[in-house]
Amino acid sequence: MDHCKILSFLRATGPALDPLWNEADAVRRANVGDAIHLRGLIEVSNICTAQCTYCGIRVKNPNVHRYRMTLDEILESVRLAQRFGYGTLVLQSGETPAAMPDEWVTEVIRAIRKISTQAITLSLGERPANDYQAYRDWAEAGANRYLIRFETSNPELFRKLHPSHPGLEVRLQALRKLREAGFEIGSGVMIGVPGQTWDDLANDVEMFRTLDLDMIGVGPFLPHPETPLGQEFLAQQGQEPQPDQVPNDELTTLKTVALTRLACPGSNIPATTALACIDRSQGHRNALTRGANVIMPNVTPAKYRRLYEIYPSKATTAEAAEQFDRALKEKILSIGRTIGQGPGNSARFAENPD
Ligand code: SAH
Repeated sequence: MDHCKILSFLRATGPALDPLWNEADAVRRANVGDAIHLRGLIEVSNICTAQCTYCGIRVKNPNVHRYRMTLDEILESVRLAQRFGYGTLVLQSGETPAAMPDEWVTEVIRAIRKISTQAITLSLGERPANDYQAYRDWAEAGANRYLIRFETSNPELFRKLHPSHPGLEVRLQALRKLREAGFEIGSGVMIGVPGQTWDDLANDVEMFRTLDLDMIGVGPFLPHPETPLGQEFLAQQGQEPQPDQVPNDELTTLKTVALTRLACPGSNIPATTALACIDRSQGHRNALTRGANVIMPNVTPAKYRRLYEIYPSKATTAEAAEQFDRALKEKILSIGRTIGQGPGNSARFAENPD
């Protein structure tokens, strides 16, 4: 699909979208099947030295109580995910090499490997450029996948989102290095950040295809009042938006999920938690029937979850893990899908992680 066609679907409404929804679901079924893979998310630390202008745990938010889980607590979450039958663990955190030294991460991966054959995904942000040894060490210790969203394909907007970052090219370079280190790579963008145009979003979808990603996550931008971008967004509410501004709503997110499935037929695409936050009853289901095939339930201990507030109201979704797990599996079966078994690798990797 070319740029113009992507743009026209992004701008479409109502029945004009029916062909997009139908094709995305058919392409999903033909390429990744009916199984929905569950990935247990462990928010290992909220300590962060980055200044991402959208993120609630950015270094300059003084109202965040900072934590790092102990190895024992992490292993406890791993066991919980095993009990639920989740084939993958996702370790996510803020970005502070000093708080999460390379060797500590290696030790955590090794300790998990001793008790688990689950796939291990890391989502620990970027390490300093030109120092990619850590990525190789973590792959060697037994981690299988790495997630870093590039957030936007527009270099100028990227700078606005990441004032202390050397730039989009460096982010893309990290993704390439991660692939070279042997990881499956995942990335994605937020939908509707202030300043994002329809053209930018169409370019984002094209960039997913160019990067040949194994996993692609997209979710609505949720304004956090203790961040610069959240404040900018909230201050503009009630005013007429810029004519080309992408809205941070469910429909736009679903269109992007569907277009992503068409652009990247074999990739794993989650129904994201951010989407479920803006539509608690139908958000997951709507994404799963429009191209998505993955969900990432949270298995972080309750006492830490509420401190990992990258966007507001995230914490209030912290239903007890058991309850959430049961409801999720019922929801999956009720839409005629099955619960994925095994690691749920992307099509390019064999089902067996070895
Ligand atoms: N520090 C890690 C993990 C970040 S959290 C990293 O940067 O990779 C994972 C994702 O949550 C981010 O990549 C971003 O796309 C999303 N996110 C953060 N703040 C958000 C917000 N306010 N609204 C919506 N999504 C947000």
